[in-house]
Amino acid sequence: MLGKPEDVPGECNAWLLLGDDYGDNSTTCRCKLPEGHEGAHQEKFMRNDKPVTIQWWVDESVICPVCKARIAYLSRCDQCGREICYDCLDMYPGSLMDLCQKCYAQKEKEAIKVNGKPMNKEDWK
Ligand SMILES: [Zn+2]
Ligand SMILES: [Zn+2]
Ligand SMILES: [Zn+2]
Repeated sequence: MLGKPEDVPGECNAWLLLGDDYGDNSTTCRCKLPEGHEGAHQEKFMRNDKPVTIQWWVDESVICPVCKARIAYLSRCDQCGREICYDCLDMYPGSLMDLCQKCYAQKEKEAIKVNGKPMNKEDWK
């Protein structure tokens, strides 16, 4: 929903203002219930000495298959299309391609075949 909510007659219309905790225009809630719990995910926190409870059903985090970090979304290797976190991708010098470690190593091998040495990142600054 964009913009401020309209008051609806007959409803309470109180607001809860949640901040942007990462600087990415979203508020990230983390479920603090025990692993494998039943029912909705939940985060409770205090606001002005009074508890706020947030409940949701669908876990929106994803785990990077390479580094196992929990993140908001996966990025894609431009070569093989493998989905991993942005931190596990590396831009190949001079190609503007974000590559997974495997594709990066492969490209490096090809460069060694052609140039006799790997592309040097420092050459592309
Ligand atoms: Zn949960
Ligand atoms: Zn990763
Ligand atoms: Zn790849």
